[in-house]
Amino acid sequence: MSLLTTELHDLSVAALAQHLRERKVSAVETAQHFLIRVKANESLAAFVDLNEDATLAQARAADQALAAGAAGPLAGVPIAHKDIFVTRDFVATAGSRMLAGYRSPFDATVVQRLGQGVAGNATPGAGMVTLGKVSCDEFAMGSANEKSATPPLGHTSPAPVRNPWDASRIPGGSSGGSAAAVAARLAPAASGTDTGGSIRQPASFCGITGIKPTYGRASRYGMIAYASSLDQAGPMARSAEDCALLLSAMCGPDLDRDSTSLDVPAEDFSRSLNDSISGLRIGIPQEFFGEGLAPDVRAAVDAALKEYEKLGAKLVPISLPRTELSIPVYYIIAPAEASSNLSRFDGVKFGHRAADYTDLVSMYKKSRAEGFGDEVKRRIMVGAYVLSHGYYDAYYLQAQKIRRMIADDFQNAFKQCDVIAGPVAPTVAWKIGEKADDPVANYLADIFTLPASLAGLPGMSVPAGFGAGGMPVGLQLIGNYLQEAKLLNVAHRLQQVTDFHVQTPAGF
Ligand code: GLN
Repeated sequence: MSLLTTELHDLSVAALAQHLRERKVSAVETAQHFLIRVKANESLAAFVDLNEDATLAQARAADQALAAGAAGPLAGVPIAHKDIFVTRDFVATAGSRMLAGYRSPFDATVVQRLGQGVAGNATPGAGMVTLGKVSCDEFAMGSANEKSATPPLGHTSPAPVRNPWDASRIPGGSSGGSAAAVAARLAPAASGTDTGGSIRQPASFCGITGIKPTYGRASRYGMIAYASSLDQAGPMARSAEDCALLLSAMCGPDLDRDSTSLDVPAEDFSRSLNDSISGLRIGIPQEFFGEGLAPDVRAAVDAALKEYEKLGAKLVPISLPRTELSIPVYYIIAPAEASSNLSRFDGVKFGHRAADYTDLVSMYKKSRAEGFGDEVKRRIMVGAYVLSHGYYDAYYLQAQKIRRMIADDFQNAFKQCDVIAGPVAPTVAWKIGEKADDPVANYLADIFTLPASLAGLPGMSVPAGFGAGGMPVGLQLIGNYLQEAKLLNVAHRLQQVTDFHVQTPAGF
């Protein structure tokens, strides 16, 4: 039995890592504790795959490394991986029938760096133990995690992930399984990916902390591609302090495997967590506080901004004039890239193959018709359309031009401020099914997360209180390129004077 008085699942990543280092608890005991919790909470539909033998083998390896004094900084701490990262010991389905039961011959770089280290590379891994895979929207397309075709553990058919704060509501998406698992204390940390908000929005909806780093900071190798110029991995955990530890382990160049990986050395993102923010200039974009913003969300965000003023920060009004355009721009560029990326799923190179067909073309058509869900098909069609001859200039090229202007708007804003703050989403988490048949309503809800994604900037969500129905509200912080340490510092200072991030949903 463990020597701890606190329940293991209530410990932060930082505290758990320390207890493991001090041998107050073993990695095997820790893994077993969390596996029991995962199995007891299958009704949340957060996990889609476990492999207890693999998890316990990793935990035993962590215990050995800890005993030998040769362990990575997070040795033995469990982590749940979004089902968009390929993994050797667990399925990698990207929430799609297309990849039902798929096992990869290798682990994604991010999984390796957080775990046992990158094969053939001198960089040691952080030593984390993979607990299992968690649900995501199909190919990471979605804002509600209602669109995974992979049945969750304990379910025989696909099911929406439930928000631990209110099981009748969505957890956000597409990293909804990650956010629900962390919020319900089924895992101390989870990986996520963010193409247009999929780390920040579910973190906001589930009352946890998540950061999307600068585009290129974390390797995309082994992350099943949605929109390659936007996709970025990042950590989801309860606090900024924990996210800093995880992000330090995840990031770093991987140029041989991902040519868009940034050639900047790995950093210790915890180094400046406690720096004073007195005199910090926080830019408040007027476009993030317009009519569309629900009053309960606005109240929580305003209260968080007041806390910052008390800490000595100055609020500076700024403008991001093309905020609204980020929706059409993103929903042209992301589907365009998706239509190209998803062409590999043809039943030959990758993916599901139809059982009955007459010739090659019929095999392609039937395999893709059966393998992809409605939202994915919609985006492939939009993407193919905007890239086609005669429409390319009118849509895709225009969108690329406006994308550049959106990035320039941020650079203008950063002349007046050090970080930007605002809401993550216009409302709190909505009810399951409420927008399920209304794609446009889902797209509109991404308005505040898309701009930073299009610009490739780092952004995060920090718990800032509760709104309608007692649901969590996140504050979004956006920094300039490579300013993750600053964002984490600003988030940590808020978490030293508020306790939203340590509050637990009832029953967990
Ligand atoms: N909701 C957005 C979309 O559906 C963002 C998803 C994401 O960041 N992966 O594309």
